[in-house]
Amino acid sequence: MCRSKTGGYYRMIREKIIRKLRVEPGKRITLKKFETGWAQDEELKTYDKDAVKERSNEILEANRLTLATSQELLWANNTHSVLIILQGMDTAGKDGTIRHVMSGINPQGCRVCSFKVPTPEETEHNFLWRYSRDLPRRGEIGVFNRSYYEDVLVVKVHPELLESQQLPPGKRGGRFWDARYEDINAFERHLVRNGTLIMKFFLHISRDEQKKRILERLETEEKYWKFSLSDLAERSYWDQYQKAYETMFAKTSTDAAPWYIIPADYKWVARTLVADIISSQIQALDLKYPVVSPEQLTQIESAREQLNNE
Ligand code: AMP
Ligand code: MG
Repeated sequence: MCRSKTGGYYRMIREKIIRKLRVEPGKRITLKKFETGWAQDEELKTYDKDAVKERSNEILEANRLTLATSQELLWANNTHSVLIILQGMDTAGKDGTIRHVMSGINPQGCRVCSFKVPTPEETEHNFLWRYSRDLPRRGEIGVFNRSYYEDVLVVKVHPELLESQQLPPGKRGGRFWDARYEDINAFERHLVRNGTLIMKFFLHISRDEQKKRILERLETEEKYWKFSLSDLAERSYWDQYQKAYETMFAKTSTDAAPWYIIPADYKWVARTLVADIISSQIQALDLKYPVVSPEQLTQIESAREQLNNE
């Protein structure tokens, strides 16, 4: 079945979907209730999937153009920065999403940082230190491929990792983790107050899809390099991770810096949604090209005249 659809119709559905993906501040959600598949909307499921995919690619393309313009405005204004945080289980598609969503924008105004296991130098400092070093400057879009949220995810699932963090002695129970969520919220509030627009995305894949993707890495020569034995090890902690994510959403999705749970079993769905949210949120800043002063205008006119008379 393929019914005809207009741009307005898709816009309405997109807005409805995006509202559903946003985690309400303070709300405890259950990840199992969030789809990993291609639609969060019953109505959309009744439409022909190829047609939706085609339309989705058009939207992605349009969003790339909008993003390019928004980035130019961001750069010209030099008052705001954008911080995009990507989290997800191994193979969730963080790298691919970055590549696709950011492909149209000027590399000069964009920085992508991937965070791995902290180095000894990094653990010499507070846990937020290494992330604050890599924050985007005013005018820039910064993408964090993993982030300080790892310090309440992988570290919470494997609390023995805390032993290498050189922390002062103390209990590592609920209060310890609550303090970390609180620190993260305070850190983000500080950034938002200083002109950073923060968007946090969780790429939500199913356990079956992860199996498929890991197998792909094991069966395709060109993908061997992507495989890490730790992917398999971490997979066995699937439920613990899902639980850590659920608590993290409840504690750190705020009005100022919301979390979005992105269905990611289909890469095109995830990419379109992420691009759509980023592009609409930057547009909502309503940035305009800086107005030049009358003196600058006189200088521009005289420079133009000078060149034309050469
Ligand atoms: P990848 O993103 O696949 O290159 O893997 C990076 C690895 O670094 C993942 O296994 C993460 O769990 C791990 N990692 C990232 N941040 C931290 C952290 N703060 N503490 C411990 N492990 C981390
Ligand atoms: Mg990996």
